[in-house]
Amino acid sequence: MRLEGIPASPGYAEGLLFDLDRPPAGYRAKASVGEEKAALELAIGKAVNRLTTLADAADADAAGILEFHIAMLEDDALSGPAFASIGSGQLADAAWRAALDSEIAGYEASDQDYFRARAADLRDIRDQVLRALSQDGEAAAAPGAILYGEDIAPTRFLETDWSAGGGIALKAGSTASHVAMLARSRGVPMVVGLGGSAEKVGGFALLDAERGGIVFSPSPADIETFRRSALSFADRQGAAQTFLTRQAITKAGAAVRVQVNIAYPSDVDGIDIATCDGVGLMRTEFLFGKTLPDEETQYQAYRKVLEWAGDKPVTIRTVDAGGDKPIPGFTVEETNPFLGLRGIRLSLKRRDIFRVQIRALLRAAIHGNLKVMFPMIATPEEYGQAVALFAEEQAVLAAQGVAHKLPPLGIMVEVPSVALAPESFADVAFFSIGSNDLTQYVMAAARDNAAVAHLNSVRNPAVLRLIAAVAEFGRGKGIPVSLCGDAGGDPATIPALLEAGLRDLSVAPAQLAMAKAAIADVSV
Ligand code: PEP
Ligand code: MG
Repeated sequence: MRLEGIPASPGYAEGLLFDLDRPPAGYRAKASVGEEKAALELAIGKAVNRLTTLADAADADAAGILEFHIAMLEDDALSGPAFASIGSGQLADAAWRAALDSEIAGYEASDQDYFRARAADLRDIRDQVLRALSQDGEAAAAPGAILYGEDIAPTRFLETDWSAGGGIALKAGSTASHVAMLARSRGVPMVVGLGGSAEKVGGFALLDAERGGIVFSPSPADIETFRRSALSFADRQGAAQTFLTRQAITKAGAAVRVQVNIAYPSDVDGIDIATCDGVGLMRTEFLFGKTLPDEETQYQAYRKVLEWAGDKPVTIRTVDAGGDKPIPGFTVEETNPFLGLRGIRLSLKRRDIFRVQIRALLRAAIHGNLKVMFPMIATPEEYGQAVALFAEEQAVLAAQGVAHKLPPLGIMVEVPSVALAPESFADVAFFSIGSNDLTQYVMAAARDNAAVAHLNSVRNPAVLRLIAAVAEFGRGKGIPVSLCGDAGGDPATIPALLEAGLRDLSVAPAQLAMAKAAIADVSV
């Protein structure tokens, strides 16, 4: 049997399936309400200890996720209803499960990918405590196994030994989940959206996380084809390492700038600045967590990245909240968030929040080679308004005698109106093509919907024609054009992007070597 899904982290894995959906062992009832409450308290404590041990050994990103779990476990808002139910006669495990399941249902019902992805965090917390309650030492997956199930808990990912290979295959899941982010940064192959097959599968399987699919009980012919693809991927990856420290250049000698996309300031800790041409996109949505970050927090975050990059450019994007990246207290509930109040539309509506970010950027600009760009621009008026706000805040800082600098201000090209009529934007400092959104809007195929993933292709001639038109317009007017969507790091798409006239790509750090190797193979 073969299932198709969406690749969340590229690579190949063959191995035995490990069932992620195995229910935890049973719970033994205690003698009194007091003992039930004590049992739950002890189990929460055990779960916190286990997470703390994991967090101590984890890198910055993973530790951040675990600390988020610990904070949730220690929050009375989560455990309060469970203790109340025990008081009215429920057993500790049933009370905890019911309390968490009702929270989880709320997250799962959200039509926003980000919140649905957080349901996985809550399920993880629920199971950690249930496991501690039942004293069920969790069965670890055998080294090299393919973890298969509905969804995967972040702690399960962190506790798994990936040194012998293995991969993740999810019936549901999301490319925007915490685990998907960890898998990409660690190079663990992962496929999501395989669909809820009712059939109980087990045994040996082949996971192709380059194209996005899994084969259960494969035939010898399946295995042979799979191993050829896996070998070719490993060869390409190995060979690519030699390109990492070199300037990217095509077979015909055209130089291509390759920058990196980052989301957290800590992302730069693992990147050697010599291996890239700067930061082509720093997303700032992730700084906006549970609370909106103040000016100082933002200033420090931007300054860290600018100082790391030295004289190389760092392009920071003003917050692109909304769509699949909602921010509590900022974005609004909408039936169709991808076509709603997101990106610059929301920033221009909530100018109080936007002005804080603008001041932080103006102040940070003195610490390096900053460029700032606006997301989701659809009309020249929006650009004009954003530029005017920069001028206003610059005047405020100047009047206060605060050190600052006005950076070049450019725009994302991700709404078709801009790509179709770039001449309306001849006064921008630069264009950066957001192929993720441009593709979903041109093809009318949501970027997070597995059912229409086959339509969501940058290589569709309509999308490529728009990219080529923007590149040509930029060349003619002397306006720099780069591309920072995920397509820029996809070796299969790079030739088409260079043929469309692009010479400046920005990719995920883990894709730098493969992207440079792919560029070296193109004859433009
Ligand atoms: C894009 O749309 O291609 C892009 C780079 O922005 P994001 O993925 O953050 O929407
Ligand atoms: Mg976008």
